[in-house]
Order: sequence, then structure tokens, then C-alpha cells
Amino acid sequence: MPENRAMTATVAESATVPAATGKAPTVAFVSLGCPKALTDSELILTQLRAEGYETSNDYDGADLVVVNTCGFIDDAVKESLDTIGEALAQNGRVIVTGCLGAKAGEGGGKLVQQVHPKVLAVTGPHATQAVMDAVHRHVPRPHDPFMDLVPATGVKLTPRHYAYLKISEGCNHRCTFCIIPSLRGDLVSRPVGEVLGDARALFESGVKELLVISQDTSAYGVDVKYRTGFFDGQPVKTRLLDLCTRLGDLAAPFGAWVRLHYVYPYPHVDDILPLMAAGRVLPYLDVPFQHAHPEVLKRMKRPASGERNLERLARWREICPELVVRSTFIAGFPGETEAEFETLLDFMREARIDRAGCFAYSPVQGAAANELPGMLPQEVREERRARFMAVAEQVSVAKLQRRVGALMQVLVDHAPALGRKGGVGRSYADAPEIDGQVRLLPPEKASKTLKVGEFTRARVVAAEGHDLVAMPI
Ligand code: SF4
Repeated sequence: MPENRAMTATVAESATVPAATGKAPTVAFVSLGCPKALTDSELILTQLRAEGYETSNDYDGADLVVVNTCGFIDDAVKESLDTIGEALAQNGRVIVTGCLGAKAGEGGGKLVQQVHPKVLAVTGPHATQAVMDAVHRHVPRPHDPFMDLVPATGVKLTPRHYAYLKISEGCNHRCTFCIIPSLRGDLVSRPVGEVLGDARALFESGVKELLVISQDTSAYGVDVKYRTGFFDGQPVKTRLLDLCTRLGDLAAPFGAWVRLHYVYPYPHVDDILPLMAAGRVLPYLDVPFQHAHPEVLKRMKRPASGERNLERLARWREICPELVVRSTFIAGFPGETEAEFETLLDFMREARIDRAGCFAYSPVQGAAANELPGMLPQEVREERRARFMAVAEQVSVAKLQRRVGALMQVLVDHAPALGRKGGVGRSYADAPEIDGQVRLLPPEKASKTLKVGEFTRARVVAAEGHDLVAMPI
């Protein structure tokens, strides 16, 4: 699910793939939106490169521009429409894909075409083939594809040492604040053998951290009734526990991390915790609770809203005491009373969520929640968000303080000056882009250097806000 992720914009760097020679047509690519959109971009870029197109980060000189859009919140819609306008102004030949492409405008028809009638083609999300068909129509496929120039892992938009692995598309839920199911459809799980094959290729290519994503990771396999697939000739069930077990097996020889996102607190998630306690999968769960009061959760139509989440968290921590939980919440949902909001604050204090984000409710065009009574004034929604974040910060800071003195494994993301002047990394408790970081001091030993994409052991010497400071040892 989107869970109000910060929107990221990525323009394809030609440096991420070997440059093709000759006069192959060039496609400029802009990727907006959440990690799910990013993996769609990677699939399209991979196909473009496989067919011999050049990819570029520059509108000028490109034969065509593809813009992968986000349509979740109004700011994302605006950014996407602005980007399309910019590409049209600077290049003129633009294909649009992604969530905004599926969005209807006033009176029917596609919103993108209503605002920008000059775009050449528009597709919805997860539509690699439809995008490629449109590309072929407007810029014919080069005669001699440079198949050997495409890495086995496809083209990635993330740094070389971490990668998102999408295990399913769409969602069977109908949360009232969300329009994702209308944009991406019902849950479709990817075949388990294919997912594991991708994971292995990523580890073999040097990926040290695999981030499992979907709209609803706990539901993996529900649509295919957990059918048995095959990987390396062995049967594997299309089910979260089996997938995580095999991912842990694949990661182990590389010493790599497997991190789970968008996990709803269903009872069967309990079965994953022993894998975390055993170090097979990172003891980190991204669980989008969104609220804690049963009535608000009912109005939101949230999955797992009937679960006793405090008890579940306690059980998880009993099985795996190092567990770090990240979550997102919405303050000021329509009809939220002060008492209901106070329940949310109490939950936050008791649940001791390590990493929490909170958004003031904001109506999304086409969402069912817009019809709910009791829309709160903007200042109330903002004020509740600020109150929530103050509590969340107290919890998070206190938890980080307890790490001072601990020895942690840190994955290095940046290391200037050949790693002799320190750097920045993340521990198992920090997912890229959304959590804190570990600031690494210059190593004391002259022989020690930090290398991007490699692990280092480090002793935590201080906590600063949401980040840690550590000395590599
Ligand atoms: S409907 Fe609910 S569970 Fe599904 S993507 Fe939207 S917010 Fe996530």
C-alpha cells in the first residue's frame, strides 16, 4: 500500500547500465512515486535496454520521454502533471505510465489526456508491455538488440547494494482513504519461483539488502490459494512464511539482509518472528497501523482492524526481543473525536513503536472517506499530527538512547574520501529513505576504511534525534 510514502523522483541514470554504442534511439525516463512504482520503472528500463534502446536522464536529444507517475495524493498528482508538462515543453514526445495514468478526469476520460492532450500514449501502473508497445509505435525498435549489455538483474534505480523486490501487485482491501485498488486492481501474487529467482540474481549481483514490498505483504498467495510453485526443482508454497524462509536461505551465503515492508498484523505473521530471532530475516517489521481506535479503524475499513495489536506486539517482542517496528498513522480522520485520538496517543506510548510517521488526514480525490461525516478543520488535523509526532519522538529518542554502547552491524551507504573520513550507513533498524541513519566517525585504526555497499561493525557512541553516531571498529 502507499502508506503516504515520501515521493521520490528518479531520472534514469545512464551510468547504472553499460552504455550502448552506435545510433540506438534514446528514451529519457522519469520515475516518480513509491517503491512499487520504482520497481515498475526498473522493469520498463530493463526491457528498453534489452531491446537495444539507450536510456537517458536528459530530455534534450532523447527521441522520446517516458514518465512514470504517482497519483496517490494531490501533491503527487500535481508533481506528476507538472513533470509531464515539463517533458512536453522540452521534448514534445511523451508517454505516460503509472498510477496517474489510470486516474479518470472530470466527466470520464483520462485525467492525463484532459490536462495534457499532446501526450502520445497513457497506460496505468504495472503495464510494461503496454508501455513497450507505445514506445515501438513512436520510436521503432532498434534492429540489433544489445542483449548482452543488460545485467541479469535488470536495470535498477536504487544504489547497487540495495534493491526492492515486489512480490505482488494490487490489493483486496478497500480502505476508505485509499484509491490504490481502483488504480492497481485486486491482489495478484507473483509466482514464488519467479520471485525467488529474482532475489537470487540480485544477491549474486552484489545486493546486500533486499526490501520486500507489495501493497499487502501478509496477503501473499491468498489470490492463488497458496498454490505450490517450484524453485530449483523444489516445491515451494506461495505463502509469506515459505517465501521468507527461502529468501533467508538465499541471503545467508552473501551475508545479506532481507527486510519486510507493508506487513499487516494477521495471526500468521507470528510465524515469521522465529525467522527473525534466528537472524534469517531482519528483525524489522513495517506495519502500517494507521490508527488504534476500533471505531476509527472500522471507518477506515482497515485490514486486521479486529486484531489485538498491543498483545500481538508483546508476543512478537517475546519471540524476538530485538524487533524494530515502523508504522504510519493518520491523525484527524473524518469523525475522529478527541477521545479516539487520545486512544491513538495511548497506543503509541504503550506500543513503543520505534519509527512512526504521521500524516494529517487529507482527502484524496475519488476516496470513499470523502463521503464520511465529520470532516475536521485543517488546523485540528495538523494540531493532532503535531501532538502525535511529539509523543512518537519521545518514544523513538528514548529507544535510540538505549543503543548507546551497543555494537551494531552497519551497511555503508556513503563513504567520502575513500572511507577514511567516516561516512553514513544504516543498521537493521533503519530502512533506506524512510528511517534514521548511523553517522560513522572516521575509523580509529588507520588500516580500516569504509566501503559503500559493505558492512562494518561499529560501536554506538551517541544518539542524535532519529540518528545514531557510531565508531567503526
Ligand atoms: S486499500 Fe488499504 S491495504 Fe490496500 S493499498 Fe490501500 S491502504 Fe493499503
